[in-house]
Amino acid sequence: MPVYRGRFAPSPTGDLHLGSLLAAVASYLEARVAGGEWLLRIEDLDPPRIVPGAADRILQILDAYGFEWDGPVRYQSERGDLYLAEIERLKSTGWLYGCACTRKEIAAIAHAGIDGPVYPGTCRTGLAGGRMARAWRLRVGEAVVDFEDAVQGWRRQDLVREVGDFALLRADGLVAYQLAVVVDDAAQGITHVVRGADLLDSTPRQCYLQQRLGYLRPAYAHIPVLVNAQGEKLSKQTLAAPLQAGLAVHSLVAALALLRQLPPQDLNRASLAEVWQWARSHWRIDALAGVKSITMQGVDTGF
Ligand code: GLU
Repeated sequence: MPVYRGRFAPSPTGDLHLGSLLAAVASYLEARVAGGEWLLRIEDLDPPRIVPGAADRILQILDAYGFEWDGPVRYQSERGDLYLAEIERLKSTGWLYGCACTRKEIAAIAHAGIDGPVYPGTCRTGLAGGRMARAWRLRVGEAVVDFEDAVQGWRRQDLVREVGDFALLRADGLVAYQLAVVVDDAAQGITHVVRGADLLDSTPRQCYLQQRLGYLRPAYAHIPVLVNAQGEKLSKQTLAAPLQAGLAVHSLVAALALLRQLPPQDLNRASLAEVWQWARSHWRIDALAGVKSITMQGVDTGF
């Protein structure tokens, strides 16, 4: 096992933009500076949200920007059997139970949690007569999860109060992100997860799931997300500009500036190799300590 194995796991719901580049750059530099590996995983589990051609364009851009990944690219869409096998394992231990509730039924009695309504536990002790399981939920029991994030510090979440029993197999038949990401990180031997702070609230669910499945917990570092003037995360919905292959140096320097690495202005005139060399020798994730979001203000992004 390597001492450090990191990864970047984009969802092909659109092209990479400056916001996604931050997670790519931070995860890459953390891995390389530690002398570790960096794996690439395409999270294409949710067919309605996938944009045809986006996965290929993501790989092309990463290549054009000089990222070098280790081993083959993994596609979640090809790993369904692995997820279902782990779901069966949880079912057999009784941690997973069938739930017949519709979204509407849950919304009518549930209180709001950090990520939608907290499941009120209606089906926890068995399905009411004549009802069929639509989704499969994981019991959270009494779980309170603590973890130390390398950027955001100590975090604690009371899963019972803030999340509730959560679905691993959804009513639409799709495997939930929380399950797939945990199974993949374990199967790929990921030791360090560096990603956007928008996933900070998902992490306790993932730690809990690792415990239930008998996996090791990787180290976590959640870097700030890039937001627009309205405070919204930069995304396809907020019309973030796609990264362009011809602007690799400029975009990488902008990403390094946003990540508070203080790149010198003249790095914009350097070669791609020189930009990466500078980045590797100056990279300090501590510059982001406690920062959850950043705006583009003051940074010349070239877009
Ligand atoms: N696929 C997720 C995204 O693009 C990232 C998942 C992760 O890094 O754990 O937002």
